[in-house]
Amino acid sequence: MPQTLAEISPFRSTSTVGNVLRRAEELLAAAGVENPRRDAEALLAHCLKVEPWRLLLEREKVLTPGEEAEFQTLLEARRARRPLAYIRGWTGFHDLILACDPRALVPRPETEILVEEAFRFLAGKGAPEVIEIGCGTGAIALALARQLPGAVLGASDISPAALELARDNAARLGLLEKVDLRLGDLFAPWTDRRGGGVDLVVANPPYLSRQELAAAPPEVREFEPRLALDGGEDGLEVIRRLIEEVAGYLQPSGRLIFEIGAGQGAAVRRLAGETEGWDFLELARDYCGRDRVAVFGRRDG
Ligand code: GLN
Repeated sequence: MPQTLAEISPFRSTSTVGNVLRRAEELLAAAGVENPRRDAEALLAHCLKVEPWRLLLEREKVLTPGEEAEFQTLLEARRARRPLAYIRGWTGFHDLILACDPRALVPRPETEILVEEAFRFLAGKGAPEVIEIGCGTGAIALALARQLPGAVLGASDISPAALELARDNAARLGLLEKVDLRLGDLFAPWTDRRGGGVDLVVANPPYLSRQELAAAPPEVREFEPRLALDGGEDGLEVIRRLIEEVAGYLQPSGRLIFEIGAGQGAAVRRLAGETEGWDFLELARDYCGRDRVAVFGRRDG
């Protein structure tokens, strides 16, 4: 198996954008990367400081030795299965560009479905009170803050490092004043809001079972924070606590909207049934048709 860009061709073709991309794609594919072409283009674009689509127009451009060396370094990191977002230091989420590093989970496109469900519920509410539990990079809370200037938003995380990253992101987006960021486990930082005045609680809790975590791709298993992924033996440990504790905060017409794992729809429906006063209202699926977002509330609320 070829080991480096230089080794892949014994004749070492000229390092044009086109050639380098072709070789990089082969190397990433051999390393088991899911989207080798996309990632090769993203890394080269990052290195050359252009938008990826520009590469199409510049296939004959020859890389300088410095550019080639930098690309090689980025490529090595991706071959070791470091997530693309950690290598580049950012990812796109909803309408935001967010700083990303191993302090928090990389925001996933599926989580945008949760944001859309939240917007749907909040439409027309003037100054809704919203809390995000386990905010990681801040993706969900910041996407809401950006489009709902009237909302009273709070977001918390159990990880001081993740909260720091969320704070960096909020500052960079000019939203620091809009989101009350707090440190702590689940509802511990929000006891002053107890008593049922909150309109919406959103969360992307850790929900992988031990078995799923062990079988997750290296990007997830070896690089992302376990705290953001590990849902205990059956994957539902944090979700159970979230459902139990949320009742003390939501107003009767309020909602809990949270992300769940692909096979967890039936289990969370059961959990709602077992929880006094709570109903399972809706399940939204992701682009692949998998269970992804659960909506809890009171049917009569
Ligand atoms: N969607 C993530 C994954 O499967 C898991 C995120 C989570 O546990 N909240 O990699």
